[in-house]
Amino acid sequence: MGHPYNIEVELTQNSQLEKVDFNNLKFGQILSDHMLVADYDDGEWKEVKIVPYGNISLSPATSALHYGQAIFEGIKAYKFEDDRVSIFRPDKNFERFNKSALRLEMPAVPKEIFIDGLKKLIDIDRNFVPNTAGASLYIRPYMFATEAALGVHPSKSYKFVIITGPVGAYYNKPLRVKVETFYTRAAAGGVGFSKNAGNYALALYPTKLAQDEGFDQLIWTDAKEHKYVEEAGTANLVFMLGDTLVTPGSDTVLQGVTRHSIMDIANSWGIKTETRDVSVKELIDGIETGQVSEAFAAGTAATLTPISEIGFEGKVYKLSDPETRTFSNRVVNYLNDLRYGKIEDPFGWNFIVE
Ligand SMILES: *Cc1c(COP(=O)(O)O)cnc(C)c1O
Repeated sequence: MGHPYNIEVELTQNSQLEKVDFNNLKFGQILSDHMLVADYDDGEWKEVKIVPYGNISLSPATSALHYGQAIFEGIKAYKFEDDRVSIFRPDKNFERFNKSALRLEMPAVPKEIFIDGLKKLIDIDRNFVPNTAGASLYIRPYMFATEAALGVHPSKSYKFVIITGPVGAYYNKPLRVKVETFYTRAAAGGVGFSKNAGNYALALYPTKLAQDEGFDQLIWTDAKEHKYVEEAGTANLVFMLGDTLVTPGSDTVLQGVTRHSIMDIANSWGIKTETRDVSVKELIDGIETGQVSEAFAAGTAATLTPISEIGFEGKVYKLSDPETRTFSNRVVNYLNDLRYGKIEDPFGWNFIVE
C-alpha cells in the first residue's frame, strides 16, 4: 500500500504559542509553529518534512507566479471537551485537491503525504487548536509550480505545503448578496470546480463593485446566459424550496464539503434534497411567493451564513428573518455539536488525531 514516505521532523526553538491571544482570534492572521513541506521533482515526491514555520525562498522565474499553476484546500480541526483533536472530513479535501491537481496538469499528492502528513502536523501543533467556543484550527494545504523557467509549459517541479492557524468563532452576519449578471467566475469546461488560485483573483474586482453598491457578496450566475445561480464568494448556495433542500449542481461550482455534509444530514432527517440547476427566475419568484423559505451560503470558513437580501436588476428581495429559519438553525447546531464531539458521529466524519 503506497510508498512509505519518511516524514522528517525539525521542531521549532522559538514557539509562538505563548503569544497567541486565544480570546481574540481573527481569520488567518496567526499561524502555528510548524508547517509541512514536500518537494516534487523528476516525476516523484522526494523530501517530506515538518519544519518550523518560516519563509520560503523562490526564484523570480518561479512558474506559479507567472502562469498560475497553484491550488489549495481549506479544512478545519476542532478540540473536543476531553481535549481530543479531530479533523473534519480531510478525506474529502484530499480527493478534491487531486481533482484540482489533475485539471491544472499538476501531480497528485499521495495520501501518505496529504492525510498522514496532516495528522502528524496537527499532532505536533495540537496546542494551537483552540478550545474556546466556536473556534477551530484552520488548515491550508496548497501546491504550486516551482520550476524556474519562463515559457508556458507544465512545471517539472512543485511544492506542496500545509500551514495551519487558530481562528475564532465566525460572526454570521446575514448576507446581502447581489446576483451578478455581467461578470463571470467560471465557464463550462473551465476550472470552476477546482480550488485554483486564479478563481479568487478574478472575483476580487466584481466583488468590490458589488460592495461599493452596499452588498456583502455576489451570487455568480452561469457564464453563457447569466440565467442560473451558481455560488457566492467562497461558499456554496443552498435554498429551502418548498419542502426540498436544493443546491446548484453544475461543474462550474466548487463541490463543497460543507454543503455536501448539510445535504447528507438533511437526508438522514428525512428531508428531500436535490442538486440541480436553479434559475434566477425560480429563486426570485420563489422569494415573492414564499416558496423559498430559507437561503444560505455554506463553506468551511463560516459553516452556514444566512442570506437576508438578494439584489437583482436594481431591486432588492428580502428573505425571512434568519432567526426564524427552522432548518438552517437546526442543521448548524447539529453540525457544530458533531464536529466538537458533543454528539455521536453517525457518518464517521471526525478524524481523531491520536
Ligand atoms: C472552498 C469553497 C467553497 C466551499 O467548500 P467547502 O468544502 O465547504 O469549504 C465553495 N465555493 C468556493 C468557490 C470555494 O472556494
